Amino acid sequence: MIARQEIPKPTAWDSQEARPGIEVAGRRIGDGSFTMIAGPCAVESREQTLATARAVADAGATLLRGGAFKPRTSPHSFRGLGREALEILAEARALTGLPVVTEVMDPRDLEAVVEVADVIQIGSRNMQNYPLLEEAGRSGVPVLLKRGLASTLEELVLSAEYVLKEGNPAVMLCERGIRTFEPAYRFTLDLTAVPVLKELTDLPVIVDPSHAAGRRELVEPLSLAAAAVGADGLIVEVHPQPEEALCDGAQALRADEFASYLERVRAAAALARRALPRLEALV
Ligand code: PEP
Ligand code: MN
Repeated sequence: MIARQEIPKPTAWDSQEARPGIEVAGRRIGDGSFTMIAGPCAVESREQTLATARAVADAGATLLRGGAFKPRTSPHSFRGLGREALEILAEARALTGLPVVTEVMDPRDLEAVVEVADVIQIGSRNMQNYPLLEEAGRSGVPVLLKRGLASTLEELVLSAEYVLKEGNPAVMLCERGIRTFEPAYRFTLDLTAVPVLKELTDLPVIVDPSHAAGRRELVEPLSLAAAAVGADGLIVEVHPQPEEALCDGAQALRADEFASYLERVRAAAALARRALPRLEALV
């Protein structure tokens, strides 16, 4: 029996409300607000990237994603436009005002990437690339660290430590699905990770439903669930013509459907008492 004077402990959500979050390009992430990172899997061309950036910015996304250096299972797949893509991302940022999130795989590219990136993405396959984590830590640029395909939450948090210990406090953790015995979708999105990571750390927790789903139809239901469970934000893939995408087209949301999707995500985030700032409020 619960003693009458016993005060219930704050839930993970309640304690999260008091968290300071991290700073990215003058905005706060993980402070109780909700962040929407959206854009193409890969920068394929200037037209495709600028069209996507415009669509997600107009809808109210808070950051733009886009891969310049792509980790691909097959070395024969499209692996990104590299430095040319960084120039396109810089143009997209100038056009829309959205801060840019882009992946770095090789520490030799870090200098070029941080000239453009407001957030460095470290992908699942590199979650335990310790020299890369330390270099990202030393850069001082905020890091989005994705959970490895078969990594425990403790391993994810310890990888984040590699960045933090270099004096870089701005790390976001990202749940993007793990490999299980279930083959009906690409990966199994582990939503229990969200409240549990909040017990383990103060760092913002972002969910990537696109790579977990592998299929467009599943991205919205997973997004709503992630927002309602208390994620600090989402990272999703968007393309103007997913059928023509060079990478991950099957899971990309259509750019012209993104605004209505985002309205429904806003409602789900409100269940966890998180609001997505309107663009006007950011200027
Ligand atoms: C990506 O974000 O495009 C990506 C390759 O993600 P992950 O590292 O989670 O597979
Ligand atoms: Mn992708």
